[in-house]
Amino acid sequence: MAFAFHILGTSSSGNCSILETNGTRMMIDAGFQGPRLEASLTKLGFTSAAVDAVLITHEHADHCVGLAALVRQNPTLKVFANRETARRIQGTLKIRPDWQLFETGSTFEFRGLQITSIPIPHDAADPVGFAIDCPAEDQRPARRVTWLTDLGHATDVVRHHCSLADVLVLEANYDDEMLDLSKRPLHLKQRIRGNHGHLSNHAARDLLLSLREWQTTELFLGHLSKECNRTSLVDEVMNAVRNWKNDLRVTVVDPLEDDPISAW
Ligand SMILES: [Zn+2]
Ligand SMILES: [Zn+2]
Repeated sequence: MAFAFHILGTSSSGNCSILETNGTRMMIDAGFQGPRLEASLTKLGFTSAAVDAVLITHEHADHCVGLAALVRQNPTLKVFANRETARRIQGTLKIRPDWQLFETGSTFEFRGLQITSIPIPHDAADPVGFAIDCPAEDQRPARRVTWLTDLGHATDVVRHHCSLADVLVLEANYDDEMLDLSKRPLHLKQRIRGNHGHLSNHAARDLLLSLREWQTTELFLGHLSKECNRTSLVDEVMNAVRNWKNDLRVTVVDPLEDDPISAW
């Protein structure tokens, strides 16, 4: 199984990706309902029974709503989460997944992959991002895939992990003006903008421009809000990043896109 990273979708409405490497299929978040999840996996040529493990970032529905269906299809699936996230999700489930608990901030191993959980500032019990170190395979050098969405602001830890990623998925949730003009209640706008909410397009850009040494070659901007953002706006804001780092491939993930987006 050659290295491949597939984003099945990332937006405020659902998040899920699959990393294939070293003979292992590792899912990050399961934030789509069962049928949508299966349909996306079918497009990649396999079913949920072929997924070995899933890493859960936090208990919000757009990151774990498909977990129950996934576990029913594949009862041996290993489900990695920290204790508080597992506890919150278990409270909503009728079945018991094969929980594999980790400490936030720790690095653990699964089938030769080193996985580091990264604490992030967000309004969930104990939210994390993940960095997955994939060993060298055949002609391909070792690579690190990092997933960082749902963060109210950039911490030093987040910045550190952004700079070390080869493939980076970073949140660009909203455009300031579109959020201002949206019909959302004030308290929700404040929550989104808050220190434990989401990164705006400008905040994502500023985070990236603040990195001193940055080895990323593949950047995905994700977790866009359908109501308060446009891919064209993110694209425009990211021109500053493209101009600064010209070996970088930048992809803005359309929240309306149903087909997986892949990096090899
Ligand atoms: Zn969230
Ligand atoms: Zn989310």
